[in-house]
Amino acid sequence: MTDAPILKINNIEVIYNHVILVLKGVSLEVPKKGIVALLGANGAGKTTTLKAVSNLLKSERGEVTKGSIEFMGERVEDLSPNDLVKRGCIQVMEGRHCFEHLTVEENLLTGAYTRGDGRAAINDDLEKVYTYFPRLKERRRSLAGYTSGGEQQMCAIGRALMSKPSTILLDEPSMGLAPQLVAEIFEIVRELNDKEGVSFLVAEQNTNMALRYATYGYILENGRVVLDGDAEALRNNADVKEFYLGVS
Ligand code: ATP
Repeated sequence: MTDAPILKINNIEVIYNHVILVLKGVSLEVPKKGIVALLGANGAGKTTTLKAVSNLLKSERGEVTKGSIEFMGERVEDLSPNDLVKRGCIQVMEGRHCFEHLTVEENLLTGAYTRGDGRAAINDDLEKVYTYFPRLKERRRSLAGYTSGGEQQMCAIGRALMSKPSTILLDEPSMGLAPQLVAEIFEIVRELNDKEGVSFLVAEQNTNMALRYATYGYILENGRVVLDGDAEALRNNADVKEFYLGVS
């Protein structure tokens, strides 16, 4: 028998401003300890899907009007973003969103705000984050605003890790980064998945990179899943090759 998925999205619709239907019945699953890629072009609805899970649509006048979202077997559509983080699911937003006027270490520590355990446990986890991101240790006293794009992406993932998540919703980690750095970030994602058992739902336009690291992928077009399958099958699919991998 296979394990129940850690995250299950059932046929959700999302509407912005009461009229703009952006997600038109999206369903997807993330298995426990899986890495799943959510792929698609600019505007396909990837960020909206992640924000629907995190309950971050309200500030953008968006709402889930149909369908359901389950995390660890329980409905979560009505949970606040903070309560979802406390249950173990956290989003790393597109564009990194570090606090520029705080140091790297202060940024990381803000990630522990939902935790009820003491300073010693938080310090242990800070050291653990530094083992995955040695660059952040080197830069820990620098203001985040003065670090590179790659370091800010690492800082954003490190900060998410400080909440001790079982699942990270990672939005477009490759955005604006050189290929070498993108590979470095994805290697760390794989390591976190491997060693810490963190599940990932990764929204990406960089299909090639995402399908190298994910085990399963969904392709969104215009608010609908048009194709899904094992990463290898998607990499070999003629349409994916032509439209998303730039080879035919
Ligand atoms: P990108 O890679 O550019 O982030 P995406 O696949 O993540 O693209 P979304 O950001 O989810 O796509 O956007 C999906 C659609 O919803 C787009 O047509 C976008 O213009 C629209 N949209 C996003 N946010 C809002 C909003 N706050 N109000 C109205 N429409 C929105």
